[in-house]
Amino acid sequence: MRTRFFAAAMAALACAVATQARADVPSVPAQVASPASSAGQLSIPFERFELPNGMTVILSEDRSVPLVAVNVMVKVGSRFEKDKRSGFAHLFEHLMFMGTDRVPTGAFDTLMESEGGWNNAWTSEDRTDYFEVGPAHTLPLLLWLEADRLSSLGASMTQEKLDAQRKVVRNERRERSENKPYGKIELRLPELLYPKGHPYHHPVIGSHEDLEAATVNDVKSFFAEYYAANNLSLVGRGRLRHQGGARRHRAAVRRPREGSGPRGAPCERAVALGRRARDVGRGQHPAREDRHGVA
Ligand SMILES: [Zn+2]
Repeated sequence: MRTRFFAAAMAALACAVATQARADVPSVPAQVASPASSAGQLSIPFERFELPNGMTVILSEDRSVPLVAVNVMVKVGSRFEKDKRSGFAHLFEHLMFMGTDRVPTGAFDTLMESEGGWNNAWTSEDRTDYFEVGPAHTLPLLLWLEADRLSSLGASMTQEKLDAQRKVVRNERRERSENKPYGKIELRLPELLYPKGHPYHHPVIGSHEDLEAATVNDVKSFFAEYYAANNLSLVGRGRLRHQGGARRHRAAVRRPREGSGPRGAPCERAVALGRRARDVGRGQHPAREDRHGVA
């Protein structure tokens, strides 16, 4: 059962995330599953429903640990990439951490880590996943940060951010495949396994040439096309009914104005922390240790 607090957070996400919808995504029927638990059997009760904006939400309460985990899955991977733009889905994954007007570059991590949380992401042929884990009280913050970037990343994109992550991704290709013993197999296998023209024919990491060709307009149109609410699913797992956290972060998840994205306490704090992060690592854009190609 959803708590009042989590429902408020969901309302924030529902309003914050782009209302533009992909036309070909079917709606998901509400579902509650509570498999019978018996010795030796795994039991993971969950509730599944759909927000008014089309986003699928799956909640699973687990009070055995004082933690929460949030996963946002976007139904886009390398098989959706356009001709001459291989590697774009994974490049976009990196750009999701480059900040917005409310959460400047670096503040996404700084805010989360200052409360004891952490995050990462990965891209495969079929999907892109973003996940965050933190103490139970961080749930509103985690949801606020996701709502912020899911509502405004396209508008906040710049040439500087794209160039920075383009370099990171090209280096990732060299480090993990080209300059690693047997690493080139990851680049060659898709070409051998799938015929030319098949969506799995090229590796998730893409080619240097195509990565170099990506433009800011490509980023904005990719965001508008695939990061629509009804093309996403969100999973919340852990101690979701942490009431102390709800009181502490109530302001963070209050209902935003329609179309304005989330607002509230973390905003000002994010700006301050972002400035500090910029001062500490001026000009630095640390590589993210994500994974790709593992569905
Ligand atoms: Zn990467």
